[in-house]
Amino acid sequence: MGLSKTIWAKPAEYLAHQQPENPVLFFAPGVLQDTARRFIDGFPGLVTYAVKSNPQEVVIENLAAAGVRGFDVASPAEMLMIRRLAPEAAMHYNNPVRARSEIAVAVALGVKSYSVDSRTELAKLIDLVPTEGCEISVRFKLPVQGAAYNFGAKFGATQDLAADLLRTVAEAGFIPSMTFHPGTQCVDPSAWESYIHAAASIAQAAGVRIARLNVGGGFPSHRLNGVLPDLEAIFALIDRTTEAAFGADRPVLVCEPGRGMVAESISLATRVKAVRDDEHVFLNDGTYGNLDELPMIGIIDRTEVLTPEGRARTAAPRGRIVFGPTCDSVDRLPGELMLPGDIAEDDYVMFHGLGAYSIATNTRFNGFGDVAIETVLALH
Ligand SMILES: *Cc1c(COP(=O)(O)O)cnc(C)c1O
Repeated sequence: MGLSKTIWAKPAEYLAHQQPENPVLFFAPGVLQDTARRFIDGFPGLVTYAVKSNPQEVVIENLAAAGVRGFDVASPAEMLMIRRLAPEAAMHYNNPVRARSEIAVAVALGVKSYSVDSRTELAKLIDLVPTEGCEISVRFKLPVQGAAYNFGAKFGATQDLAADLLRTVAEAGFIPSMTFHPGTQCVDPSAWESYIHAAASIAQAAGVRIARLNVGGGFPSHRLNGVLPDLEAIFALIDRTTEAAFGADRPVLVCEPGRGMVAESISLATRVKAVRDDEHVFLNDGTYGNLDELPMIGIIDRTEVLTPEGRARTAAPRGRIVFGPTCDSVDRLPGELMLPGDIAEDDYVMFHGLGAYSIATNTRFNGFGDVAIETVLALH
């Protein structure tokens, strides 16, 4: 899994030259930096990046170069990497459950922002974290809506508990803030509206003026041909809603996109191992590899099929059942994928918008999972 020094014009050029047998992730730094600037220019507050969505060092380095000054981290390994690659950046330790040993690492690395959703975890922070200049954000949840899957099932205090925690944070001398995560691939932006209004009423119930409101990640990426997410409309909605809900007590806003930041900058090239009896298509990557997320969140139909010589297949599309390379029967993409009727063994199937939760969750199951990362100027 190395990054070669060559920069190719686009994936088709690389594929035709190299005819790789293993999957390839094509990374376009320019696309990532453009998206970072879109967030920084458009979001009405501080933009941080959720490292877990793609922790590749080239991703972190390009985000830092584009002006991202904060990172949402969840583990000592992520914190150590950010300290090494972006030493000046703020780290927000927003995994609400931490071992005491992990909190000690964060304190030693100078982390000044933590989130919490329970009394026991808050007690640990009060024990171990110096209050001076340090923020604790209370994370709350609402009944799920609008997202591809439910984050509130694991984390987030109820509204009553959140008010209680917020009071304790303020009384303990920490900077009181609040946070929520509306769920990932949040195509219905009204989720942010509900959460921001709820945050204002929790702060009011607690009698605490919050310094910052972190509106989470969840910004959608472009997964389906016909559905283009409108980030600027979401930013405007968040801004308007915060103004309406908090008025003169308006907190500083923070966001922590993962998917919405990184997805578009990476495309995956898989190779067709077999078209079995002109029916099922078998790829060299699947749900234990870089397509891990698809059974949970749904298909990506932004595909392109290229011959080994790099020519686009253009025959009329036909729905196909697509399997990955392992011997496990769940290694199958959800539903059917529309692919050109003349797709053939050794062709490449490109999936666009695959920068998030792809290489980050790739396993080595069944001896597969080797993937190269190649830099390209453009993805199309
Ligand atoms: C995973 C995560 C994010 C990023 O979510 P995306 O849907 O990828 O934007 C942001 N905040 C927290 C707390 C997370 O756990």
